[in-house]
Amino acid sequence: MSAKAAGDLRVLYIGGWGRSGSTLLDRMVGQVPGFFSLGEVREIWQSGLTENRPCGCGAPFRDCVFWTAVGQEAFGGWDRVDLDDVLKMWRRFDRPWALPRVLRRRPHPERSPGLTRYLGILERLYRSLANVSGATVLVDSSKLPTHALLVRLLPGADLRLIHLVRDSRGVAFSWEKLVRDRVTQPEAVYMETYGPVGASARWLLYNEATGLTRRIGVPYTLLRYEDLVARPREELTRVLAQTGWPVDPSALSFVTDTEVFLTPNHTVDGNPIRFSEGGMRIRRDDEWRRKMSPSDRRWVTAITFPRLVGYGYPVVVRGGGSR
Ligand SMILES: [Zn+2]
Repeated sequence: MSAKAAGDLRVLYIGGWGRSGSTLLDRMVGQVPGFFSLGEVREIWQSGLTENRPCGCGAPFRDCVFWTAVGQEAFGGWDRVDLDDVLKMWRRFDRPWALPRVLRRRPHPERSPGLTRYLGILERLYRSLANVSGATVLVDSSKLPTHALLVRLLPGADLRLIHLVRDSRGVAFSWEKLVRDRVTQPEAVYMETYGPVGASARWLLYNEATGLTRRIGVPYTLLRYEDLVARPREELTRVLAQTGWPVDPSALSFVTDTEVFLTPNHTVDGNPIRFSEGGMRIRRDDEWRRKMSPSDRRWVTAITFPRLVGYGYPVVVRGGGSR
């Protein structure tokens, strides 16, 4: 690994669990001059290189000009990457059970040769992302805390994390719904679903683990999805100031209190919203308040109760779409 000056690889990481608005936040932050929206970088090996899913620009991943340039600079082309080998390392070091291994400081090369090798690959990838994008700050909404901690271990990495949370009942309701994926493809392919208990358990696990990053010293800011969509401009200003990379108000001209203007992007994986361009109205998705079954709502509230209250959500919520 090359010895770069500490802190020159700036990564703004969006952590938490799925269906919490992370793709929307990624794209919003990515509109700030100097910031570059990447989507879920940890999905590059599977969704990008293996499945060749469309990039945010609409092109299949392997045809996208941006990602082709990144692969060329990092590895001399994606075909030079031993994908089976990388996928094995990815499954080993970038899943929730790997958390204890990546919580510590940089691994000893002789004691952890596999992890050292995977970090070497990630270092080439992120250095290339910074060079090809020309960005000052890379925005990575990979969500999983293990990936955040891997990025933190890269030489010269300056990782700052926004922990995006959403009411567990809204998240669980969203995971039950069928959401069509791969909008650029003719056949109907749907995103993964979970029942209320499975979704609640995962909501707890991923949010607890994301909170751990704060305890080991990662600069950390909590953001609630509901606050982001209610006051997008104000909340973006606040979280960027809290991450330590404040922006001038003029840099936020793309967002008002009701609308955001989105430009073309090169995001890997994420919610289908990544294909949206132009002016988009921001409104809170609170369909769950009207449509979630009372029994599902009770289960999710009971399982996630202490954390839900910890994030400042009310335990009893009336339906009808009002607060
Ligand atoms: Zn692209």
